[in-house]
Parts: sequence; structure tokens; C-alpha cells
Amino acid sequence: MPKKTPPLGQHFLRNREILERIVKVSEITSSDKVVEVGPGMGDLTEILLNNAKEVIAIEIDPNLYKILNERFYGRENLKIYNQDALNFPYEELGEFKVVSNIPYYITKPIIFRLIEVRALKSMTLTIQKEVAERLTAKPSTKAYSALSIIAQYYTEAEIKFYIPAKFFSPPPKVDSAVVKMDKRISVPVNVLDEKVFFRVVKAAFGQRRKMISNSLKSIIEEPKDFLIKIGIDPMKRPEELSIKDFAYLTNELCKICK
Ligand code: SAM
Repeated sequence: MPKKTPPLGQHFLRNREILERIVKVSEITSSDKVVEVGPGMGDLTEILLNNAKEVIAIEIDPNLYKILNERFYGRENLKIYNQDALNFPYEELGEFKVVSNIPYYITKPIIFRLIEVRALKSMTLTIQKEVAERLTAKPSTKAYSALSIIAQYYTEAEIKFYIPAKFFSPPPKVDSAVVKMDKRISVPVNVLDEKVFFRVVKAAFGQRRKMISNSLKSIIEEPKDFLIKIGIDPMKRPEELSIKDFAYLTNELCKICK
């Protein structure tokens, strides 16, 4: 019989040593408000409660929500919510950090949801190794993608350590990594219009094997002429362009679109 994939990405990490290490690299202090997405049975929550001022735990599964309420009955610095973390009103929290072992089916949407929240200070996330490598990838590498550029525009991202699948119960199909993303105080490049910037980046990597002049056809009529005019080699592939190149390309595009 093939193994059933657990619902809601429920792969539990119960190794105390690894959980302590996650909290250590998150650098949370006793003055921090910490959000945990998907607390599960509460093993990471327990360590967070011992290290933070306040923990906000958001668990979608009503059975786990009940277990958490029983386990942490009377703990005043913990608020548990039974809801989808993708729909949580993070904007109402004030300054906060995130420390979570993410359910992998929402890794990308939850990162995109949180990354733009102004009051977010940092995220320490256990996620699929492959996604962690994309978040931190540099140009001209296989893992460099639209996700790398968007993540690195908002944060400084670093892989802290890897966790083999066997440490989870049940083990997921892939190994994991703990990535820390510190929100930048100011963005690393100036772009005239962020919406255009993200559109350009996504269009370019939407067809990553193609030359940049081809992949920009959905955005501009004569991309080859335009690229030559602004001094970017139209034969380049998107992974050869840095975040600075994409910002420059966006700004030149904004000038002619006005
Ligand atoms: N933090 C626990 C641990 O380390 O063992 C559990 C991690 S497990 C990978 C993911 C947890 O997220 C599960 O408890 C699951 O029920 C919960 N979950 C799944 N989808 C969710 C969502 N959309 N919003 C909030 N919690 C979710």
C-alpha cells in the first residue's frame, strides 16, 4: 500500500535538540512578540514561550487546537487561534517575528503574505530544502528564480542548517532547511514602480530557458530593440541578471510607459 500523505502538511518535528536550535538561530528575546504558523502539538511553542514575551499560535486543525488549549491551559503569554494562517490579520499585531515549521503546501503563499507586512521583523522558517535554496540563491545558479529576487528585495535571507526528513513524523518526501529572513530596513535597489518590477521578474523567469528578449514579449512590444537601447544583452537568460539589473530594466521601462 502506498503511504498516504498526511493532510494539512502535518509532519511533526519533536526532537528537542533541533527545536532548541531553531529557536536559538531565530535570535528571539524576552521582549519579542512571536507568531507561530501551524504549532501542531506545541513542542516548538513550548520553547518559544520560554524565550519570548508573547506567542501568537495559529493552527487550522480543530483537533490540534483542542490539544494545544489543554496543553497550555493558563499560560498567559500565549494566544491560540483556530484559523487559516493565510487569512490572519497580521497588520493588527504591531512589531513581530515569525518562528515556524511551515506546512509545506503553503510555503510560498505564506512567505508572500508575510514578507510585505510592514511590522514584520524577521522570519525563521523550517521549509523544503529546495525552496530555502531558492530564497537564498545568487545569480547564475540553478536555484536563482523570481522567488530569490522577491525574497532578497525585502529581506536578507540565510540558510542556518538542514534537517533530514527522518527527523519528522511522519517523514516528508524531501529534506528541510531552516532559513532566517531578516526584514531589510530599506530596500537594496530603487525601483520606480514595485508592481512593474515584480511583473518583469515573474515574466522573465516564467520562461527561464528563453532569452530575456523573448520572455519580455508579454510586457513590451519590441523587447530586443529596447534591451539593446538600454545596454542589456537581449541574448542573456533571466538567471544572468542581478536584482540591480532587474531594477534598472524596470526603471527604464517605467520611463517609456509614462
Ligand atoms: N509546529 C509543529 C511541529 O513542528 O511539529 C507542526 C508542524 S506541521 C509541519 C504543520 C502544522 O501546520 C500542522 O499542525 C498543521 O495542522 C498546520 N497547518 C496546516 N495548514 C495550515 C494553515 N493554512 N494555517 C494554519 N495552520 C496550518
